[in-house]
Amino acid sequence: MASAFLVNMERVRAIREICRSDAALEQSFQKVRKDARKLSNPVSVDLTSRCNLFCEGCYYYEGDAQEMTDEEDISRWRAFFAAEAKENVQFVYVGGAEAALFPDRIRAAADKIPNGIIAANGTVKIAKDIPFRIAVSVWGNPEDTAKLRGGGTFWKALRNYANDPRAHFVYTINSQNMGQIREVARIMKGEGAQMTFNMYSPTES
Ligand code: SF4
Repeated sequence: MASAFLVNMERVRAIREICRSDAALEQSFQKVRKDARKLSNPVSVDLTSRCNLFCEGCYYYEGDAQEMTDEEDISRWRAFFAAEAKENVQFVYVGGAEAALFPDRIRAAADKIPNGIIAANGTVKIAKDIPFRIAVSVWGNPEDTAKLRGGGTFWKALRNYANDPRAHFVYTINSQNMGQIREVARIMKGEGAQMTFNMYSPTES
């Protein structure tokens, strides 16, 4: 049986063949390959166990992650990211609970690692000079967001990030909010925000 590696190589070869036949596709393919290098050797780091919201269905509060204590010493965060950079880490996935509450920890990461993305609820502004992408979570239309995440969070996130070129709004699809996708997409478009999607896996509770 062919190994997964060989199957992947075959797929890459097939894609290369298709792209070679079209100049525009070839250009896009080369750009994707170049950009993919930024993702090499990634690391995923939760910067804090604290959050300013308490959303219904939050993964973070589902398990025992909230029992963890934060590393408060910023010099240790700086040393940590410096060590990761020495290991040639090129990309960092920054999570929380809500990492945006700790701008000094985000800066410690950005000072050492060139590329990254910060998962955020959008209610806290991240300094403009942090070069990472920002994935702002969206759970549904304004009314459902108010019920699940707290009043005003939907519009606050848009005020903070709709026109921020680093940000894209990630609509987490579940069985209850599928019917709101068009409505939310229209709002996002109207506000000039970028939008993408992921899937929600229900927590046990
Ligand atoms: S913003 Fe994120 S981490 Fe905070 S409570 Fe909501 S889902 Fe959980």
